[in-house]
Amino acid sequence: MRTYWLSTHLGYACRHSGACCSSRWPIPIEHDRASLVQRALDEGRGRPAAMQWLEPAPTAPGEVAGILAHRSDGDCVFHGASGCAIYRHRPRSCEHFPYVCVIDPRGVHVTLSHYCPTAAALLFDDDTAEIVEGPAIFGDGRNPEGLDAMEALPPTEIEAADGADVAPQGCAGRPRLMGWDEVSRWERRIVRAVASDTRVPGPPDLALFAHARDAMPADLTWPDVPADVAEVWARWVAPSWPRWAPAVGRYLAARVHGSWAMCLGSGPRDVLRSVDIARSVLQVEAARVCARTVHGLDRPLLESAIRQTDLLLIHYADPQRLLRS
Ligand code: SF4
Repeated sequence: MRTYWLSTHLGYACRHSGACCSSRWPIPIEHDRASLVQRALDEGRGRPAAMQWLEPAPTAPGEVAGILAHRSDGDCVFHGASGCAIYRHRPRSCEHFPYVCVIDPRGVHVTLSHYCPTAAALLFDDDTAEIVEGPAIFGDGRNPEGLDAMEALPPTEIEAADGADVAPQGCAGRPRLMGWDEVSRWERRIVRAVASDTRVPGPPDLALFAHARDAMPADLTWPDVPADVAEVWARWVAPSWPRWAPAVGRYLAARVHGSWAMCLGSGPRDVLRSVDIARSVLQVEAARVCARTVHGLDRPLLESAIRQTDLLLIHYADPQRLLRS
């Protein structure tokens, strides 16, 4: 099966930043991996601490042996200064982070969650950001997990007016089934367009930000829009935006390539809307971090805002609710 990447992400490799190991996420471990971990611990390899490492998960699927315990500081019990103590046998969800995949008849489309700081740093490399064929994620022939659209028909599109990328929302034109080649051409064109867009947007669209927040499950919370966000945007963020527009463009291109909205939603229009949502959340998070630090947007602050944006959009928000208009 072919694997398609955003060129920006091709050089990704885990640098053991530990972001995913210190996020207090419940991490399920499968029975086969749990047995290997237990054997390693019994043999005195990889022992992180003299504590219970596996917690029960009675409602989890049958293949799950339990949830990894957290230390009192919130880190995974196996996370230490030198990285993961059980890296060879780590759970599959650890192995999959930060990959976000769609698998359709064309192949595997890989994008990354930039909540991972290593992935976020790649956005600042000088790169033209295009969709390219690359290596499989796993070298042993396994397919990655992701949105399985193998049996799906290509997305439908509303016939657009001449020259338009897509018909506008609410357009009453006739739906038309696209061909997969046509979908690929559309994605490549939009990735290029989004990545090279250097315009400074207006103040953040707070309705789109609220929509993303509302797509979270009820047991999760997200901070409100910072006070005076439009003022903060104009004073601390917008003046520096042109300097960082290439990195923002690559980030938004990564929300086009491998987008679940293409198959889970109603095709290209939903992909473009998901880009608008990502841009709006990023603008709010950039304003938040600039207001907190009383500093104009610089690379560390933009990286922080991008990480927060993907934390909300990829890890917290429910994809179906995010797609609802
Ligand atoms: S098992 Fe290893 S990779 Fe997974 S969260 Fe724990 S320390 Fe991180």
